[in-house]
Amino acid sequence: ASGSSLLSSASCNYSKIEEDDDGIINLKLGDPTVYERYWQEMGDVTTMVIPGWQSLSYFSDNNNLCWFLEPELGKEIVRVHKVVGNAVTQDRFIVVGTGSTQLYQAALYALSPHDDSGPLNVVSAAPYYSSYPLITDCLKSGLYRWGGDAKTYKEEGPYIELVTSPNNPDGFLREPVVNSSKGILIHDLAYYWPQYTPITSAADHDIMLFTASKSTGHAGMRIGWALVKDRETARKMTEYIELNTIGVSKDSQLRVAKVLKAVSDSCGNETAKSFFEHSYDAMYERWKLLKQAAKNTKRFTVPDFVSQRCNFFGKVFELQPAFAWFKCEEGIVDCEKFLREEKKILTKSGKHFGDDKSYVRISMLDRDINFNIFLHRVSVSSNSTL
Ligand code: PMP
Repeated sequence: ASGSSLLSSASCNYSKIEEDDDGIINLKLGDPTVYERYWQEMGDVTTMVIPGWQSLSYFSDNNNLCWFLEPELGKEIVRVHKVVGNAVTQDRFIVVGTGSTQLYQAALYALSPHDDSGPLNVVSAAPYYSSYPLITDCLKSGLYRWGGDAKTYKEEGPYIELVTSPNNPDGFLREPVVNSSKGILIHDLAYYWPQYTPITSAADHDIMLFTASKSTGHAGMRIGWALVKDRETARKMTEYIELNTIGVSKDSQLRVAKVLKAVSDSCGNETAKSFFEHSYDAMYERWKLLKQAAKNTKRFTVPDFVSQRCNFFGKVFELQPAFAWFKCEEGIVDCEKFLREEKKILTKSGKHFGDDKSYVRISMLDRDINFNIFLHRVSVSSNSTL
């Protein structure tokens, strides 16, 4: 897929997220439209009116190391992590980015030596998030380069290991795998939220990346944040974003601040379901149906997950990831091709994630209508597409 866009192939039409005229269902991306219904039901709670005289200055807070971070967003980030208990924010620097995609690049810039020691290898255990190699190598940087599967990485010297937990694409919880003391870790915690996984402790790593895209579903606002222990790393990440985009849209930051506030407020509301209860229920239902279909048809498998106690919900449950790591059985070698040609379902082949073609990644975050059609099609034996 080298040269293709991060989101999909160039031919992907983003406006066609519903079933199109040919009955094709596109579950290739992790477009989080499952959350649309909740936010519609919330009405005006997150509506904002921004007057034309606002957001003229580049600057948000000259006293903050990350001078383009809107104070209101910083406050709501700290609050939501406290409410959920999924990450330590005390004594951390917050760096805001245009999605966690920009923060990933900022972290690579900040962690790589800027002398002539050559590009630093960046590794992650396969199956890894397919955008990592593409982003890492797209500019053929002299600072860093994609080093492949962390499980087989044997080189001497410093390197960066990406730890995505829960992982995209397979949903498992992860820890670093390279056996060396020379690694610098970046924890991508995009999915460490209670609708996807039990929250067992407040994550306390050196660099943790989060995003509005997968927490509240507001991918289009393009806001991510990094919680960073080390001042110099946070300063360099800020410097990268300054060089790259001279900051991050204030309008988007203010909207995410309002959304996060609504999420935290909903958690203290005894009378209505909180955002996380609502989204947990949606994911629970989908995974229950998908697992049932796998069991009934035996034509495909999805991973088995262990149960753990979630401190946020105060109950034990299994992971219910944002993607299904779906394996075609019955001798089907190319699962992506089979689903595309026989079922008119577009998915992302395992080969993009450093794995084999019998696997595909399927979004569990699409609208109900698409999820239900998908479920029906993989459950029936004929190549009928409904
Ligand atoms: N990390 C992981 C593991 C992801 O799955 C995604 C989105 N697919 C991102 C980062 C990028 O998120 P953002 O929309 O914030 O750039």
